[in-house]
Amino acid sequence: MSCIFCRIVAGEIPAEVVAREPEVTAFLDVQPLADGHVLVVPRAHAACVEDLEQAEADALFRAVVRLAGPVREALGAAGTTIGVNNGEATGQTIPHVHVHIVPRWPDDGAGSIHTIFPRRTRRPLGEVAAAIRRVVG
Ligand SMILES: [Zn+2]
Repeated sequence: MSCIFCRIVAGEIPAEVVAREPEVTAFLDVQPLADGHVLVVPRAHAACVEDLEQAEADALFRAVVRLAGPVREALGAAGTTIGVNNGEATGQTIPHVHVHIVPRWPDDGAGSIHTIFPRRTRRPLGEVAAAIRRVVG
């Protein structure tokens, strides 16, 4: 087992675990963007969100919902940014799904999720929506 997150879930390598549930483990990012930067990962290895089984996805997001408030409260934060880099092209460096919960403060100097995109859209909304609906079915 070479996946570092699988090894953390299995307890084979140390991590600052903040919650451990049957299907989900949450621990501090070792390269935190802010104090209290938590990663929430499914027990089962899955590279991307779309690789999760429905029950795994349910358990993962339930854990995110359950942890967001306590993480904010523990750090005295004003909010949290919650995000997933989904696939190597997005900057996902560990190919095991992980949800970032990053505490935020009004003066922390970071932007919203919108600030990471240069807004280079090329197609009308209706055309894009139709293309997605065709694939969703
Ligand atoms: Zn893994």
